[in-house]
Amino acid sequence: MLDMRPNCEICDRDLPANSQIARICSLECTFCSDCHDTICPNCGGDLQIRPTRAGDMLKKYPASTKRVNAS
Ligand SMILES: [Zn+2]
Ligand SMILES: [Zn+2]
Repeated sequence: MLDMRPNCEICDRDLPANSQIARICSLECTFCSDCHDTICPNCGGDLQIRPTRAGDMLKKYPASTKRVNAS
């Protein structure tokens, strides 16, 4: 299961589970599309649009609330 982090590592903006601008790499580094859109600056891997999680699945498997920051 994806670790759905609640914020962008760079600008710290909120990225809720239904965000359309959240980007994630295979190591679950998480950014907004304004900061990084294609290549993960941490590991060099591809960034993909983070799939959303909604409804009952979000209740059953809540998104992470642990904020991660690059600095
Ligand atoms: Zn950002
Ligand atoms: Zn990464």
